[in-house]
Amino acid sequence: MSHDYDVIIIGGGHNGLVAAAYLARSGKSVCLLEAKSELGGATTSVRAFPEYDARVSRYSYLVSLLPDSIIADLGLNFECISRTVSSYTPYQRDGKDLGLYVSRQWDAMTETSFDILDSSGHESAAWQEFYAEIAEFAKRIAPTLLKPLMTRNDLRELIDLPKVWEYMIEKPIGQVITTRFKNDVVRGVVLTDALIGTFASAYEIQANICFLYHLMGNGTGEWKVPKGGMGALVAELERVVVAAGVDINLNQEVTTVQSDADGVNVVTADGQKLRARYVLSNAAPQTLAKLRGTIKPESLDGSQMKINILLKRLPRLKSGVDPALAFAGTFHANESFSQFEQVFIDAKAGIMPEVMPIEMYCHTLTDPSILSSELADLGYHTLTLFGLHTPAALFDGDNEAMRARALEAALSSLNQYLAEPVEDLIVGIEVKSPLDIEKDIGLPRGNIFHRDLHFPFHEEGSTPSWGVETDDPRIFICGAGAIRGGGVSGVPGHNAAMAVLAKD
Ligand SMILES: Cc1cc2nc3c(=O)[nH]c(=O)nc-3n(C[C@H](O)[C@H](O)[C@H](O)COP(=O)(O)OP(=O)(O)OC[C@H]3O[C@@H](n4cnc5c(N)ncnc54)[C@H](O)[C@@H]3O)c2cc1C
Repeated sequence: MSHDYDVIIIGGGHNGLVAAAYLARSGKSVCLLEAKSELGGATTSVRAFPEYDARVSRYSYLVSLLPDSIIADLGLNFECISRTVSSYTPYQRDGKDLGLYVSRQWDAMTETSFDILDSSGHESAAWQEFYAEIAEFAKRIAPTLLKPLMTRNDLRELIDLPKVWEYMIEKPIGQVITTRFKNDVVRGVVLTDALIGTFASAYEIQANICFLYHLMGNGTGEWKVPKGGMGALVAELERVVVAAGVDINLNQEVTTVQSDADGVNVVTADGQKLRARYVLSNAAPQTLAKLRGTIKPESLDGSQMKINILLKRLPRLKSGVDPALAFAGTFHANESFSQFEQVFIDAKAGIMPEVMPIEMYCHTLTDPSILSSELADLGYHTLTLFGLHTPAALFDGDNEAMRARALEAALSSLNQYLAEPVEDLIVGIEVKSPLDIEKDIGLPRGNIFHRDLHFPFHEEGSTPSWGVETDDPRIFICGAGAIRGGGVSGVPGHNAAMAVLAKD
């Protein structure tokens, strides 16, 4: 049977687009089938509040894992802007409202802030030492992400930082955090990176994997603001993919995938039948299994709330810090180490946290271009709020009612540190539970990484791979569910394209 295309890509999320771009530019005929009416998946920008000209990054909002080399290879006109502030964490002590301020570059204000929190100087020294070690680790691991998977031993030898390897990979991350830091607030700020999008205790290795992904991007782990919002990345990828001659088909949900000795047949919901030499799935592995009629891989549920807010102005804080500093980086509320552990236990037992661990940032402080100049001049701002440890199971019974409860828990968590209720300033708000995310964009159980993240290596004795292969030599994963997928990175898209190109 002849082939309609060299490659069919199921799904037009950013990774499907990256794969399409690399393949088409290497001379392959490529067809991309996207179920929805627009490209982008979890990387879209939308005018969420129609009466206001503000284009929010509806799902993903910060970029770290997207290698600069992919931007350069594909000639993307896409820029990420550094935030001056890394984080601000309000806390209360002896009836006083204080806050831990951490600048992106260690400075006098950060030093003073640590001194107020811990006059012994221990936490400040521990912080600088710990993150210096991790920075070195990140620098060494990042270049491996766009190459065939290394084995655990080969990667350990290449990185050659045995002490860091031990606590990053081998032992639960909660152990090193509690050994090296003494303060519950500081411990929590460090731990957050291990729990974003991952429903785990600090003492489970899954948390280490999440931690690694949050600290290795581009060799620095810095999370930057996508200029123009996350949709700007999709717009650029679409431009490049169209120029390369990819046949893009929207509103084409794939319903069946069947392979034979020399090709793969794909059927869409409206009965279109296509055949290609290879198929790449940007859809989650769980979805691909359904399309192929194979066994669905196990995975954790998604466990986060995403709340997008448009405000008349930024709220004032009880601690008196300038809101333009507090919200420019990541604002943590009720994310101490002990709070995380308790909320994890409660949520596992089916209890919605009354005070939700949340983190937020204000996109428009770094990049006002997502607002009309009229709104920017009026002082409007967006807030991106991410609530942790709210697994999909909590919403199963009654998504509407639980979404409302979760919103209340998130806002009360924030209000605890504000000098005025945030509700008084809100002009637009949208709330997405894990179940909403599954319904809107098909992420199984709302898992933001499609399925559990995986360490970026394979075990000794495994078949050499790019981390994108399936049990069928003609079918590959090009999305977040691949090994080294997860997050806005383009890495699995690139790697799946390389795996196919290596076949010919
Ligand atoms: C709320 C939220 C916040 C996040 N925040 C961040 C962040 O700040 N930074 C970060 O790096 N990561 C973040 N992430 C994670 C990141 O966005 C995702 O891991 C990543 O965007 C996944 O990209 P992808 O291209 O692999 O898949 P997706 O974006 O999920 O795209 C898959 C595409 O496949 C399509 N599809 C599915 N099934 C079919 C079918 N049967 N037929 C045809 N098409 C199909 C879907 O419609 C979709 O367009 C966040 C995710 C969420 C949900």
